[in-house]
Amino acid sequence: MSQSQMQDESNLNTLDPNWRNDALDLGLDYGMQTIAVRAGQHRTDEGEHSEPIFTTSSYVYQSAADAAAHFDGTKTGNVYSRHTNPSVRTFERRLAALENGERAVATASGMGAILTMCLAYLKAGDHLLAANQLFGSSIGLFNNYMAKFGVEVSYVDCFDNEAWAKAVQPNTKVIYCESPSNPLAQICDIGYLSQLCKANDILLVVDNCFATPALQRPLDLGADVVIHSATKYLDGQGRVLGGALVGSDALMQEAFTVVRSGGISMSPFNAWVFTKGLETLKLRMQAHCHNANQVADFLVNHPNVSTVHFSGLSDHPAHELATRQHHMKDGYGAIMGFEVKVSDSRDTKEAAWHVIDSTQMVSITNNLGDAKTTITHPATTTHFRLTAEARAEAGVKDGLIRLSVGLEDVEDIIKDLARGLDSL
Ligand SMILES: *Cc1c(COP(=O)(O)O)cnc(C)c1O
Repeated sequence: MSQSQMQDESNLNTLDPNWRNDALDLGLDYGMQTIAVRAGQHRTDEGEHSEPIFTTSSYVYQSAADAAAHFDGTKTGNVYSRHTNPSVRTFERRLAALENGERAVATASGMGAILTMCLAYLKAGDHLLAANQLFGSSIGLFNNYMAKFGVEVSYVDCFDNEAWAKAVQPNTKVIYCESPSNPLAQICDIGYLSQLCKANDILLVVDNCFATPALQRPLDLGADVVIHSATKYLDGQGRVLGGALVGSDALMQEAFTVVRSGGISMSPFNAWVFTKGLETLKLRMQAHCHNANQVADFLVNHPNVSTVHFSGLSDHPAHELATRQHHMKDGYGAIMGFEVKVSDSRDTKEAAWHVIDSTQMVSITNNLGDAKTTITHPATTTHFRLTAEARAEAGVKDGLIRLSVGLEDVEDIIKDLARGLDSL
């Protein structure tokens, strides 16, 4: 690639007319699978077919004056990979197109994206109103650190629209939720929350990690910012950590400066893994959801299971909402919670551990969104550090097991779960 091309292609805000995939960057007239496979790629003069990895920390200038121009803002272009990197940008452009956002900003992890969101959109004295069911570390970040910097934090039942409306305060600046949520796969009414936010000048931020754009595009439903832990389904094979924010140019510019100043940047290698992961995201999600629907049917009919938390079940309170909100047919995600039933005075935690320990194939791990099925006991792992009240608030009971249904043959997944459940 020539030096002048390097500068053009690194401009984040204009699209070089020579880019063959400009239209794909904008998501115009292309289907979702085409965007997933092709958007955001820029071929260099080498003519490579697949997306390369740009492992470089810095970039060269044509002259001292050219360097100065990059710093005084008269020229835009790559300066340092903590700011911009071509591999990271390919991932950002592809994800932005899939989420139907103007721009995406990649981060080192999902938590990095959530921290960036806090630093970009909240300040001391503001109120952060969050769903009561969240990824454990998100609750830890809000309670331990945002509170420390003077941000007021409170939580509401994520499925209760009236509770959301009642909890809004004059200083509420951000409403934050996951849909489906962790670990109970509860659904938030994103359209409703969007109206509530617009009426009160609040930003709606949705963690779309469990649904992914293959199932749901929160920006289309009225959200302002989408958060991703790319570590999960965007990679899909549990290899690397990463995260992202997606939204309007203006909101992403604020996030970008936080990432750049705070060093929360994604590595080029990880960006490359995620870029390739996006190519198969929809196909994987279809297969994940297909398996999950069958596992949920098995669990709901098992005598030793008291409750299955999964919106794909027709009698789930959020079934109709999820059906409306998810654009993939029969796509309710592949993460579910279920509670073991114990007839005598046996401890529900012991019973849950028995089911987990009886598996032979399924991985006992806290990760999720992987090709491999994973099983977790949230009360003693992902949500262990929360206070007992915060755990109760999040609905994390001792008998609760979280399952992330993978891509193995579904009969084998069911057989593995049955081992412990049948012998309870
Ligand atoms: C894993 C996860 C996160 C955090 O992402 P990391 O990449 O582990 O930092 C945030 N939100 C949800 C819903 C998650 O599952």
